[in-house]
Amino acid sequence: MKTVDISIVIPLFNEAGSLQQLCEEIRLALPEAEWNYEVILVNDGSTDDSRQILSELALENRRIRPIHLTRNVGQSLAFVAGFRAALAPVIVTLDADLQNDPADIPQLVKALEECDLVSGIRAKREDTWLRKISSRLANGTRRRILGDSVTDVGCSLKAYRAQWLREVPAFNGLHRFLPCLLEASGARLREVDVQHRPRLHGESKYGLHNRLWRGLYDLVGVRWLMKRWQAQLPIDRDGSR
Ligand code: UDP
Ligand code: MG
Repeated sequence: MKTVDISIVIPLFNEAGSLQQLCEEIRLALPEAEWNYEVILVNDGSTDDSRQILSELALENRRIRPIHLTRNVGQSLAFVAGFRAALAPVIVTLDADLQNDPADIPQLVKALEECDLVSGIRAKREDTWLRKISSRLANGTRRRILGDSVTDVGCSLKAYRAQWLREVPAFNGLHRFLPCLLEASGARLREVDVQHRPRLHGESKYGLHNRLWRGLYDLVGVRWLMKRWQAQLPIDRDGSR
């Protein structure tokens, strides 16, 4: 396979109504002449027509690489499946439901030149007030307990240097803590404001119950992990010469 500069990793669960437009928006955001990328669409056990639509899109566009999971394992593990398949030194993530705008990808990749991970901030978030308030509370609580500096962890639009994602611990819920874990491991973080749009097709997979309580429970485990885990081992590359 030809090498690529950027792997775009997108988990999806029952997002058939958005996939065609999503791929088209990515194509328009990253003109062929300037960008060499692959789009890894991780089908997280969808029960709608997503599988068939992905196969058709992949036939039309060689940059599109679908991965199908045989059952629904959740957004975090779908991300990990995509990270493991990614071929490029830069990994960009976003949601499949068109709430993130692919037109933001170039500014994320540019910002990554000076750091190891770029996290988007949904400056004008298009969700219900309950979701906005619960996210703000969750981010504030987590920052206080873990001591990280991530403003909007729930914004999937992020860019990473791939070497930081090679050994991420695969656990359900990871995506709500990944930038915090990497920052604690020494990764340099930058944040940029990004667009956010209302969901047009399908339904949100999260409510208060499966985000807030789970997130709080996960905080306990992640606090431990943060102290003990290292994203990269401090190997002296000159020492073996
Ligand atoms: N998603 C997934 N597996 C799941 C739940 C969600 O791959 O079990 C995907 C979903 O299809 C979307 C992204 O994760 O692309 C974010 O989900 P959603 O839009 O429901 O979250 P929200 O924006 O409402 O917080
Ligand atoms: Mg969404």
